[in-house]
Amino acid sequence: MAADSTSAAIPTKTVSVESIRSQFPILSREVKGKPLVYLDNGATAQKPLAVIEAMDTYYREHNANVHRGVHTLSEEATDLYEGARSKVAALLGAASPREVVFARNVTSAFNLVARSWGAANLGPGDRILLTEMEHHANIVPWYMVARQTGAELEFAPIDDEGRLDRAALTEALGRSPKVFAFTHVSNVLGTRNPVVEIAAEAKAAGALTVIDGAQAVPKFPVSVTEIGADFYGFTGHKLYGPTGIGVMWGRRELWEAMEPFEGGGSMINKVTPEKITWASVPAKFEAGTPPIAEAAGLAAAVDWVQSVGFPAIEAHEIELTAYALPRLAEVPGLKIFGPEDTAGREGIISFELEGVHPHDVSEILDRHGVAVRAGHHCAQILMRRLDVSATTRASFAVYNTTAEVDTLIEALHDARRIFGL
Ligand code: PLP
Repeated sequence: MAADSTSAAIPTKTVSVESIRSQFPILSREVKGKPLVYLDNGATAQKPLAVIEAMDTYYREHNANVHRGVHTLSEEATDLYEGARSKVAALLGAASPREVVFARNVTSAFNLVARSWGAANLGPGDRILLTEMEHHANIVPWYMVARQTGAELEFAPIDDEGRLDRAALTEALGRSPKVFAFTHVSNVLGTRNPVVEIAAEAKAAGALTVIDGAQAVPKFPVSVTEIGADFYGFTGHKLYGPTGIGVMWGRRELWEAMEPFEGGGSMINKVTPEKITWASVPAKFEAGTPPIAEAAGLAAAVDWVQSVGFPAIEAHEIELTAYALPRLAEVPGLKIFGPEDTAGREGIISFELEGVHPHDVSEILDRHGVAVRAGHHCAQILMRRLDVSATTRASFAVYNTTAEVDTLIEALHDARRIFGL
C-alpha cells in the first residue's frame, strides 16, 4: 500500500471484530449502565491484552535499568528496550534502528526537533511553514523556537472541504521556508494529506520536512523511506500501546549533526570538569532512565497491530467511516467538518449539532455509554479557520462496529430531543 493517500486502493482483507474485541478487556465494561461505546480513539486507543501482559511481565520478570548493568536482568531489560527500537524502525520502514529516538510522547519528540535543530539552523526572518490543520504539538514548539531565534511562522491554508490548499501551499513553499512541519492525518478533520507529494515539493523548495504521524501510524502502513521526509514522529498510546512513550524517526545525518536537547545520564560519552562529550545517536537524545516498561508495551503493540494486519485494519475503518458519514449527515442540524466521503480521509469525524454546545452533546452521549471528545482538540488555529470554538469528535479504531455507530446516532437524536430541536 502506498504511503500516499487518495490513490490508495481500498484494502480487502477483513477482520473478525468479535475476536479482536475479546482481546480488549475494557470493552466489556459498562458506562452509566450501558455497554461502553468507545469512540475517542483519536485521543487514545484502548490496549489489547498482549500489551497489558507485556508490561506486566516486564515488571514481574525483567525489571532493571538499561544499558548500565552487567547483570542478567539489566541485559534482559536492555534487550527489550532496544528490541522495541528495532520493531519501531521496521514498522516505519527506517534504514536503521539508530534513526529512532524514544521520547515521552510525540509532543516531547517535536520539542526535541524544534529546539535542537531549530536553535542551530534558524535565524531572524527565517520562515517556518506549518498548516492550519496542525495539532498544538506541532505548532507550539515551533512558536517557541521562533521566539528564541527571530524566525517567523506561516500557516498553509486549508480549503472549505478541509484539505490543504495545494496552490497556496506551492506559493508558501515558494517563499523558501527553512522548515515545513505538517500532519499526515488531521486529528480533527480526518483529512489524509498526500505526504509523498508534498514532502517532495518541500524538499525541492529546500525545506526540512517534519511530519506528525500521530493519527496515521495506527491506521495504515507508513514508510519513511517512501515518504522521503526528514523527521517523522508518532505516539505510542494511539497505536494501542501505553502512554509515556513517543517516537521520532529522523535521518541519521541530521541526528548526528544535532546538539542534544536535554542533558544528564546515559547521553554522554565522557564527563570531565573541562569538557563533556556526547554519546552516539540515539543515546545522545535520551537523557536519563528511558521508558523501559513502555517500550516493552509499545513493542507488543507493534506486534499486535502487525498480527491483525494493516490491510484488515484499513478496510475495517474505511467501512466504518463510509457507514458513519451518511448516517451522521442524516441527523437534522448536524454539520460534519472535513471531507464528505472516504477518499483521502480517515475515520476521525468532527461535527457540530446546531444549537447544542459540543460539551453538552458529549455529556448526553456519555449517558448512552458513548465516549467521544468535545473541545478544540488542541487545534485552535483550525477552530478559528472553521469559525467554531469547539467540535464534537467521534474517532474509530479497529474494534469498533457499525452497531456502535448506530448507538452514536440514536444518542444524537436523544440530544436533539433533550434540547427541544
Ligand atoms: N499530533 C496529533 C495529530 C495528535 O492527534 C496528538 C494527540 O492528540 C498529538 C500530536 C500529541 O500526542 P501526545 O499528546 O501523545 O504527544
